[in-house]
Parts: sequence; structure tokens; C-alpha cells
Amino acid sequence: MPTHAPAAPQKINLRRPDIMEAVQAQVLSHYRSELVERIRANGGVLSAEGLTIKLAKEFGFCYGVERAIDLAYAARKSFPVEKPIFLLGEIIHNPEVNDQIRNLGIKTISNKPTDQEMSQLHQEDVVIIPAFGTEVATRRKLEEKGCVLVDTTCGDVMSVWKRVRQYSKDHVTSIIHGKAWHEETKATSSQARAHGDGHYLVVFTLADTDYVCNYILNGGNKADFLKRFEGAHSEGFDPDLHLGAIGVANQTTMLRGETEEVQRRLRAAMIQKYGQAELEQHFRFFDTICGATQDRQDALEKLLHEPMSLLLVIGGYNSSNTSHLAEMGEAKLPTYFIKNAAMMESAKLIVHYDQHKHQEVETRDWLKEGKITVGITAGASCPNNLIEDVIRRLFDLRGISVQSLLSN
Ligand code: SF4
Repeated sequence: MPTHAPAAPQKINLRRPDIMEAVQAQVLSHYRSELVERIRANGGVLSAEGLTIKLAKEFGFCYGVERAIDLAYAARKSFPVEKPIFLLGEIIHNPEVNDQIRNLGIKTISNKPTDQEMSQLHQEDVVIIPAFGTEVATRRKLEEKGCVLVDTTCGDVMSVWKRVRQYSKDHVTSIIHGKAWHEETKATSSQARAHGDGHYLVVFTLADTDYVCNYILNGGNKADFLKRFEGAHSEGFDPDLHLGAIGVANQTTMLRGETEEVQRRLRAAMIQKYGQAELEQHFRFFDTICGATQDRQDALEKLLHEPMSLLLVIGGYNSSNTSHLAEMGEAKLPTYFIKNAAMMESAKLIVHYDQHKHQEVETRDWLKEGKITVGITAGASCPNNLIEDVIRRLFDLRGISVQSLLSN
């Protein structure tokens, strides 16, 4: 905690009509796709000479991402060009969008700035907080410096923070279903410690969940427990002391089915240990999957019921919601998780991300000749212009010009 009162946070209104008008025009010129809009208006299907593409009903930019990008662009327009603007890490998880932001002259620093980076920031420097938010300690340091904060944290992420802070006030340990290394989950877990000594534990898999349930019911080796969850629990967390009252929350972009299962298993363990009548004192749960993530998962689920030869999932490899879309596809049909159209090198070779190996891999003969249907979806951080590139490339690989199809 700071020993002196922090400077009052600097407030600035970026949403002035003149600024937003210019921003919207610039954002559209960078990320819009007329082609995608036309295919959408046409029921999401485009077909020619044996190749049919089907778009999921919901895909691409979500409201939180649009807002974050608008605010970053608005920040650049609001301040003179010579004034440096800094961004904590990535604005969203898409490499092309982050390149565009850098091209505006916005400088990226670590999402958790090092002491050296902090020492280079000065009072009134502008710092953009990305859509996933930032850790409480980082925000406090920036406020103490007197930086002007442009906070693009999504409202859905802040709703999770509210839950976690409430758990903490009520001496309930937050069990967060998420990726401990992801910026959003780091920011969320820091909320458990924001106003005191609350605790948290991040579980990523159902196996993690079962391990915790088993410990709740049967106890176990504390050192093994802490080793397994290294980097995924609060300082001073003790499984013998801090699993008596738990509240489940989740990273906003997890798979809903899995999050529900995490909740069910923990709830069942608490009922078994304390009895149904005592459950309220020991267990809480709030569903914090965001609406946009849910809509994209539902739309893909629906698309996956249709006959398709393969699925392309477009988005940044570190995008959590995109990786879950790819996971859903993989369970049903050949699925290729690609960051852009250049990954489709030819009809014979595609380079795509294998999230289990955490690396790009190659697949040969992925685009068969003859009649095929290709499903397409994209994560919440993927702009439409990248989706257009993928559609154009697909038809190009079949020797078909998309332009000629649309002018028919
Ligand atoms: S995916 Fe959900 S939580 Fe994340 S920015 Fe979009 S709307 Fe917000």
C-alpha cells in the first residue's frame, strides 16, 4: 500500500463528437470489410464451382474490443502528436490490430511495467489500459505518478472484478476458472487482494478442479498442492485454511460448458463436505462468461451441426476466446486456427496453430478438390478485413475471383 495519498486520477473526455467522428472513419478504413458485410447480408454463404463458404452467424469484433480500439484511436487524436502515449501490453490479442496501434505512434510497454519502464513515465504521460484491464498494483503506481489513464477495460471484465472483490470482503476465497498467465485473469485475481488480504486460486482444467475437490474432501500434501498451482494462487494461500468458503468466478472468455462443470464439481464437493443445509456459508457462484463470447460459441455450435469439410478459425494465437472456438471445431472436424490469410500457403499446404503443442504446424492437402464446404469463424479480437483476406484467398486457391462473384 502507498505510504502517501496518490495523486487524483487524471480524467479526460475522449468521447467528444468531433473526435469520435474522425475516429470512426479511421477505424472503419482500417478494419471494415464490405465483402464480409455483403456475405452476411446474403445469409452468410458464398458459393462457386464446388467451393462453398459458410460464416458463423456471430464472429469477429465484440463490443468490448470495438470500444477499446475506439478509445485508443481517440487518445491519439486528442493529444498533440509530440505527446507520447503508452499502451500496457496489447490493446487486444490480435497482432494486426496491435501493429496498427503502434503505427499510430502509440508506444507499447509491458502490461506489468518494470521498475525501469515506470521510471521513464512522467506526470501527465498518457497510458492506455487494454480491454482485459490491469492489475491493481500497476494501476496504483500509474495513479501515483499522475499519469493520465485511458481505461479501455471492458465492462464485462469489471463485473467479474466486482464479484471477486465481494468474495474478498466476505472472506470467501475466489476460485477463478481461467488461464493464470492471461492478462485478464491476472487483473481479476489482483482484485481479491485489492482491499485487504483476500485469497484466490486459479484453476484451468477439470483435472485441476478435481485435484482441488479431492483436497477439500480428503486433505493431502500441502507442498504438492502449492507446487501444482505455482503462480496461480495468492501470496500466503494455504489450502488447509482457505478452501473452507469458496466463490467461483471465471475469465470472461472460457468455454461455458467447462466453466459450468468446474462449478458443478466444486459445489458437489462442498455439499459432500458440509451438507446441503450449510452450502450457502461455504459456496458461491456467479456466471461471468461475457455475452459476446457466449454468442460466438453458440453460433459456432449451430454451424457445426451443418455438413462441412473443414473449419477455419481466424484470430490471434494468444486470444483466449478464439482458442476455445478452435477447440470446439477440433472436436468435430478438421480445424485450422490461423492468424491471417498468408497461412494458407497453397491448396497443398496450410500453416496453423496447434494450441496443444503451442506452436505453428503444417498440414498438407488440406483443401481437397471437388465439392467442399468450408466453415469460417473468428474470435472477438479479429477484424473483418482479415476475414475478407481469408475468404479471398480461399477462392483464389480455386482460381475463382471473388469480385466476379459479387458483381453477378
Ligand atoms: S470478449 Fe467479452 S469481455 Fe472480452 S472485450 Fe469482448 S465483450 Fe469484453
